[in-house]
Amino acid sequence: MVFELMRLVIKDASPSSNESFELADIDWEGLGFGLIPTDYMYVMKCDGSGNFTNGKLQQFGNIELSPSAGVLNYGQGLFEGLKAYRKHDGNILLFRPEENALRMRNGAERMCMPSPSIEQFVEAVKDTVLANKRWIPPAGKGSLYIRPLLLGTGAVLGLAPAPEYTFLIYVSPVGNYFKEGVAPIHLIVEHELHRATPGGTGGVKTIGNYAAVLKAQTAAKVRGYSDVLYLDCVEKKYLEEVSSCNIFIVKDNVVSTPAIKGTILPGITRKSIIEVALNEGFQVEERQVAVDELLDADEVFCTGTAVVVSPVGSVTYRGKRVTYVEDGFGAVAQRLYSALTRLQMGLSEDEMNWTVEKGAKRGESRETGLVRVPPVRSSVS
Ligand SMILES: *Cc1c(COP(=O)(O)O)cnc(C)c1O
Repeated sequence: MVFELMRLVIKDASPSSNESFELADIDWEGLGFGLIPTDYMYVMKCDGSGNFTNGKLQQFGNIELSPSAGVLNYGQGLFEGLKAYRKHDGNILLFRPEENALRMRNGAERMCMPSPSIEQFVEAVKDTVLANKRWIPPAGKGSLYIRPLLLGTGAVLGLAPAPEYTFLIYVSPVGNYFKEGVAPIHLIVEHELHRATPGGTGGVKTIGNYAAVLKAQTAAKVRGYSDVLYLDCVEKKYLEEVSSCNIFIVKDNVVSTPAIKGTILPGITRKSIIEVALNEGFQVEERQVAVDELLDADEVFCTGTAVVVSPVGSVTYRGKRVTYVEDGFGAVAQRLYSALTRLQMGLSEDEMNWTVEKGAKRGESRETGLVRVPPVRSSVS
């Protein structure tokens, strides 16, 4: 299914002349990847009929659930993650939000949940970002991380799909995902615990996949590693991915990444890096990548919305440590990172038509109907 990725400009009429450049009062220099609560969240519900209606922005805060909600008892839930960047001219950019919408729909099908339409998802993301725009970091300081959730919130007791669902979006300003920043991360290859199994749910962003990786991740961090790299659970020989990002290797200028086959999360950054690499003239292979090839690679890097592109400094496999870079990026990763981030931040011409732009210039009239937001009672900082 192909979606038209049209560049979209929403002109945002701000009644007070410099409202569009108002920023929340936080330390923009020190952003990491922790939750900073913002003003608004978006909530839309769906009953047994499968239709989501009446989505609304409301003040960010706790939600109330039945103790017997499907999501709490049986893990019927999905999440998504994407980012909004502020450009130097004040405009706001979203990167391929239709892809997240589509991935949520695919995941919902696997988890027996109804899901919002692509249009509902994208409009809800835009509304949430615009309502919280004072939390979008200044250009170059970070981004606004957008977290859509789809939850089985109806009460169940016997095992069955929940009778009611909630689609919710909250946001948080973020900086770097790994505490290393763009310094290389150090991975340990896990050969006993597995993230995903054939026929399981590793290929969708269901919440249950993530509690299962905490044990190996926590053990790795205690030993000084940044994260864990998983192998396939059948032959324990082929690379799958890291806890929450995809993996690439570079050998003799050929860029390779494990093929998607149900046990690997189809990352939008992964897909975009493949397209950027082809565009830059690299040979790209999606195939099985054996752990031996990893140990013999020239460069290794990870991709994901949160990390964007993260260079891998070393990999440790059964006690053997291989080092790729001491600091910074390898040459290929650097080129791909620059090309992708320039697109995401609106610094280069978007020939791929991947970005959705929201104008936030002063004095221009708004073209699309933005849900009117209720006034914020207290500012959260
Ligand atoms: C979200 C996620 C990724 C990265 O996907 P992006 O769309 O690039 O953010 C990779 N692996 C896992 C397990 C994930 O949950």
